Amino acid sequence: MYKASQFNFLTKKNSEGVLIYNSLEGNLVHLENEYEINLAKKYNKKNRLFDQEIENNDVFNFFIESGFLVESEKNEAIELERLIQKREEDPTLFITIMPTEDCNFRCVYCFEHFKRGSMEVEIQDGIVNFIKKMLSKGLYTSLHINWFGGEPLHAFEVVELLSIKLIKLSQEMDVDYSSSITTNGYYLNKENFKKLIDLNITYYTITLDGLAEDHDKTRILANGCGTFNEISENLKNMTKTNYEFFVQIRNNYTLDSLNKLDGFLEYLKNNICKDYRFENVDIRPIFDNGGYNAGNFDDCVSSKKISKYKGLEKAHEYGLHNLSLKNYIRPGGIVCNASKPNYWLFGADGKIMRCNVELDTEERNIVGQIKDANNYVIDFTKLSLWIDAGKKDKVCKSCFFAPSCQGAYCASLRFNNERLNINKQPCPEEKKALSDLLEILFKEMMN
Ligand code: SF4
Ligand code: SF4
Repeated sequence: MYKASQFNFLTKKNSEGVLIYNSLEGNLVHLENEYEINLAKKYNKKNRLFDQEIENNDVFNFFIESGFLVESEKNEAIELERLIQKREEDPTLFITIMPTEDCNFRCVYCFEHFKRGSMEVEIQDGIVNFIKKMLSKGLYTSLHINWFGGEPLHAFEVVELLSIKLIKLSQEMDVDYSSSITTNGYYLNKENFKKLIDLNITYYTITLDGLAEDHDKTRILANGCGTFNEISENLKNMTKTNYEFFVQIRNNYTLDSLNKLDGFLEYLKNNICKDYRFENVDIRPIFDNGGYNAGNFDDCVSSKKISKYKGLEKAHEYGLHNLSLKNYIRPGGIVCNASKPNYWLFGADGKIMRCNVELDTEERNIVGQIKDANNYVIDFTKLSLWIDAGKKDKVCKSCFFAPSCQGAYCASLRFNNERLNINKQPCPEEKKALSDLLEILFKEMMN
């Protein structure tokens, strides 16, 4: 006998047919003929058992293969537990480093505080020592370094020095090395880009908030000047190289710039994204994340009732895609790094943290400190607050989206809700707008 998986989600597609998704398997299927749709609705009914010999049709058998129907004896809660345990088994040690917390930009929606300049050599060496100790446990086969800031290239020499040391360490410890960077792109001239490629930094996230007219309103230098021309020149020069690298262009839109997105998408398509290395775009509404600009920016789309996928829907019309989107519906795909045991974040002064939004604005986020080149401390009580966030949440255990989110989409939101006595689950936007997300993913699958 079989029953519907508790992790199924069935939704009517805007255009035609239905989409059915199973979050434990990460499977998404579109059904459009009426016969199949009726069977899908029937087999998705909770508290019903189905006999394979009686049903014996293609949809039934396909639903068993794809995890939409499971054996009636199966305890899916155990499967979920197993999946959560797997978080401990990730073979990549993922490290985010802020070589400086300062920035040459003052974006109008930025949540950072620009408290500290370049990381000192003693702290850099302390991070190398920390990573060496972690790799010595024998749990990891690869090391990924993600450069973050502030603007990481504002402390170019730290990125260079530390990369050289970490590449050498990876060779000594016999683990694979890879590296990514979130940069505003202003310093990415030909010479600097070549140096970064030589340092194995091959994944770039660079933001353009539209054409100059819009970008230069939000992403400005500390002296107030615009930055579009320099960044777009750097991007064009990157397309002229033959290096192996990938760029995700990020765009943060306001209500006003959403209406002007077509011109920008046309520009991307014709000038930059025709190069396969730039084909991954992420187009999102601006949201208020606190920080020095909290409350100062009153054009946040997220505060209005507009789908957060509006921009991406438009991007599709221009053949541009967010290749990371499909990760959101994979098992564990929406768990925040802050709740992953293989993840660590280092501030410019050696603070060891979890959440890259809270940074050191909340004591709970400072889970340790690099003391000097040979010593560090970790507060394991604080650390486990982040790692174990959501693991005992009973509501999460019965949620159809739990395999993807695991109650750990945003531990920071969970803590804030608890502190303010807000009786609300810390669910991701992706769950709230799941029908829209599945629809857009379906279109991607069809391309
Ligand atoms: S804990 Fe929440 S706010 Fe912090 S990085 Fe994760 S998702 Fe962002
Ligand atoms: S936080 Fe929300 S979406 Fe995530 S598992 Fe819990 S109830 Fe489900």
